[in-house]
Order: sequence, then C-alpha cells, then structure tokens
Amino acid sequence: MEKGVSLERAIELALQYPLPKHSETISLDAGRGRVLASALASKVDDPRFDNSAMDGFAVIASDCQSPGAELTIVGTSQTGGETPPSITSGQACRIMTGAPLPEGADAIVMVEDTEANQEQVTINGPARTGYIRKRAENLSIGQEALPAGTLLSSASIALAGTMGHGEVEAIKKPRIAILSTGDELVQPGKELAPGQIYESNSHALASLVESMGCEAVRHESANDSMDELRTTLDTLSTFDAILTSGGVSMGEWDLVRKIMEEEGDISFWRMKLRPGGPPLFGTWKGTPLFGLPGNPVSSLVVFHVLVAPWIAKALGYHSEMGPRLSQRVSVKLEEDVSGAPGKLCLRRIRIRSENGQLLATTHTHQGSGNMHSMVAHNGLTLLPPDTDGKAGDVIDAIWII
Ligand code: AMP
Ligand code: MG
Repeated sequence: MEKGVSLERAIELALQYPLPKHSETISLDAGRGRVLASALASKVDDPRFDNSAMDGFAVIASDCQSPGAELTIVGTSQTGGETPPSITSGQACRIMTGAPLPEGADAIVMVEDTEANQEQVTINGPARTGYIRKRAENLSIGQEALPAGTLLSSASIALAGTMGHGEVEAIKKPRIAILSTGDELVQPGKELAPGQIYESNSHALASLVESMGCEAVRHESANDSMDELRTTLDTLSTFDAILTSGGVSMGEWDLVRKIMEEEGDISFWRMKLRPGGPPLFGTWKGTPLFGLPGNPVSSLVVFHVLVAPWIAKALGYHSEMGPRLSQRVSVKLEEDVSGAPGKLCLRRIRIRSENGQLLATTHTHQGSGNMHSMVAHNGLTLLPPDTDGKAGDVIDAIWII
C-alpha cells in the first residue's frame, strides 16, 4: 500500500484496475448520453450531390452579367424528384432548396431577385456560385467524422444520422455501485432522530457517475459495523466498481479503511489533496473500490479529480469529444487565495467571464461539510503544493458544473 500519493500517482495506481470496456449496438434514438465505442465513418458524401442553398433559378452565371437579363425556363428541379433537365446558354431551371443542380448550371439566383411567368424569368439580382452546395463539401464517403470515445450529444446524433447510421456501437455502460456508510445517515424525506443527518453523498455521486456515461446503482447506506459492511461489499462485488463514502479517515470508526486493510487489498490510502485527503483505492474480491471521504464536499471533489479521469481513461473517452466533467480552464484570480503546504489545493471559486477573460473569486465559507459552497461556486483551483495564488495571477482550474 502506498500512503499519501499525488493525484497523478493515484490515477496511475487506480488504472491498474480499469473498468471493463464492452460495446453494444444501440439505436440512434437511444444514443443520448452514450459514448461511441468505435469511430463512425460516413456511408455517404455530404452533400450527396451538388444542390441549391436557395429557392430560385439555376442559371449560367455569364448569362446574367447585365441587369434585366431574360432567360427561358426549361423545367423545375425538386427535392426528391427526378433528374432535372440540363440547361444551356439563355436557359434557366426553377430550383428548390436542396434540389439537385441541373447539368450546365453554375450559379443560383434567389427567387426574391427574379420576376417570372410560366416560360420566362427576368434576372434582377446576382447569380452566385456560392449558393451551390458542392457534393462532399462537408464530408466525404468513408470519412471518420466521429472518433471513438465521442459522447453522443444532439448534434453528434444528427451527424450519425446524416452519415447513414441508424444504429451505432456504444460502450456498454459499466455498472457502478454507490454505498454511503455511517450510523448517523438517514435518507432525505424521512424523519430524523436526535444525532441523525440527511444522507446526500450517494445522490451526488450517482448523478456524477451517470454524467460519465455509466450506470449508477445506489445502495442503502451501511451502518458502521464490520459484519454489515462485509456482507454489503460482498453483494456489491458483482458490480464493475464500487464507490463508498465515509469511514476512510484515521478514526476508530472508520471501518471502510479498516475492513479494506484487513480483508481487502489497498493500492493507496490518503492523497496529497486539500480538501479530500483521506481517499483510498483498492479491490474487494477483485472489484475496484474507491473509498471516498464522507465530508460531502470532499467526496464530490475527489470524484471530479480522481474518479472521473479514471473512468475517462479506462473507457477511452475522447479528450475533447467525450464526456467532459471537470474540464480544465485558465482563470485570473481577483483576490488572494491561499494554497496548501505539500498538497494540491482545490479551493472553490466562482468563475465568470468578463471582457473575454475568465475571472475567479471565492464567496462562501470553504468548510468541507458545506455543500452550499459547491453550488455557490462553479470551479476549483488547481493550486500546486506550497503555492499561494495572488490577485492577478492566472492559474489552472476546473469547472465543477
Ligand atoms: P466520515 O468520513 O465517515 O468520518 O464522515 C465525515 C463527515 O461527513 C461526518 O460529519 C459525516 O456525518 C458526514 N457524512 C458522511 N457520509 C455522508 C453522506 N453520505 N451524506 C452526508 N454527510 C455524510
Ligand atoms: Mg462515518
């Protein structure tokens, strides 16, 4: 077991036990929030054929140099219709937006710039080649426009459709169990007895897990009892990973640490982080287990900086196109923010944009039990160990939205 590891080392050690990566075929309609298991190549050129970007007339540009040019209408090009007649000098073809360009035409005049009867059209405006959408100008057949690891957003779902895919290969959602521990915890909505508090961590962790393209299964909180913990962890060992919260500090009642030490297999315990020092990582019956701190802010913060990158790397998420929890940014501090001796310091900051720059301030009390502070702020500093931030400094940070 390694003790007091850096964030980089913690990620490296956890990646020795990656999530399993399987894929499954899903319909495009089920794609929202899923992640592509392999790159998607276009089955067609986009556009498939030269077509018009405007309703108007397909013409030969050199016929339309002088204002008021008169052309003979030879037919109509409609979307989804038959191949339109070709045109020669002195002729025009009515055309709809998206309809194929007739052979011979090299420009489009907008309908607003014309006057026409059945046979003749008078051209009162410019004939533009730019109104032609050229075959394959967006995508060529075979082009891999969506890389493996892409999160299917509304736009990427539409692009998959444009490329001809009614189904895609998605990463099968790993199933991640979430277990909060502590005798004092009661689910929100229930009555509280003296000394009890509402349990919030498992709800936050479940939503973070889901936003990383995985399936979260929340389990009833476990009491601070070795026997109960053992039975519960055994049940959860069929999952692809387990996230626990609470019980990993130095105290006598920190039983997740104790049971993992005595009966599990710990890779590391404690990280050089503030807040969020106590986490552990190891395996229970072969299943990777993150023991996250119980303090509500710490458990979320550690998910953002440790668990989210572990999931992303294990499943091969694309760095720009994949789920982007904890996205990095540079921010300019508007006030002094103290760092931490020997630890990466994750202070909560509020980031706002002003004159093209991201500015950061702090607002509320930064206690690691203060969940309100995670909502009042939208970012975390990444102040390196032994480094204070001064007003005016530009520093690394991550979004926590
Ligand atoms: P622990 O790490 O178990 O010592 O817990 C640290 C602090 O976080 C204590 O004040 C706990 O009551 C609180 N806490 C632990 N787990 C949760 C939870 N799931 N939801 C809310 N608070 C918690
Ligand atoms: Mg506890």
